[in-house]
Amino acid sequence: VVEVLRLGHRGDRDKRISTHVALTARALGADKIIFTVEDKDVESSVKKVVENWGGDFKFTVEKNWRRYIREFKNRGIVVHLTMYGANVNEIMPEVRELSKDKDILVIVGAEKVPKDVYELADYNISIGNQPHSEVAALAIFLDRLFEGKTLYRDFENAKIKIIPSNDRKVVIRNK
Ligand code: SAM
Repeated sequence: VVEVLRLGHRGDRDKRISTHVALTARALGADKIIFTVEDKDVESSVKKVVENWGGDFKFTVEKNWRRYIREFKNRGIVVHLTMYGANVNEIMPEVRELSKDKDILVIVGAEKVPKDVYELADYNISIGNQPHSEVAALAIFLDRLFEGKTLYRDFENAKIKIIPSNDRKVVIRNK
């Protein structure tokens, strides 16, 4: 099981990027997203995608996110994605090995991440040491974790499904 904790969300300013964090988590293989701030618009956009495109991706809100992280540590490992962390290239083989029998919680921030998150995490991992985006960082981390396999994943109960094609749009719709 892989979960993503979206730490922080600045209302209107973050609606689109927080939605993208959730959709990227789902599309690239995570099972659940946890927001720390409630946003009904983001929640309904994500739920609509799940309804149409299938699968069992969960959306929850945990205001007491420190407790959530602490409790998660009883069943899995906590990875915080940050540009200050150890380079993903070096650390990923170790995390991939651990993920065989442990759940993983991936934390991505919105604004400045509180210092104790660095201490709560088992791993602080950078996707390079330049500032970029939580969406990009999450995508690369999940792709490295699953080694590209989740890009072939079929989602159960999908109303819409794409058949990959180089030269035309092929879409299957199940009522
Ligand atoms: N300046 C903020 C700070 O000091 O924590 C980070 C803001 S950044 C726009 C939002 C999130 O993107 C970060 O919390 C982190 O999860 C992710 N991020 C950005 N660049 C990253 C990198 N090079 N490696 C890993 N994660 C990164």
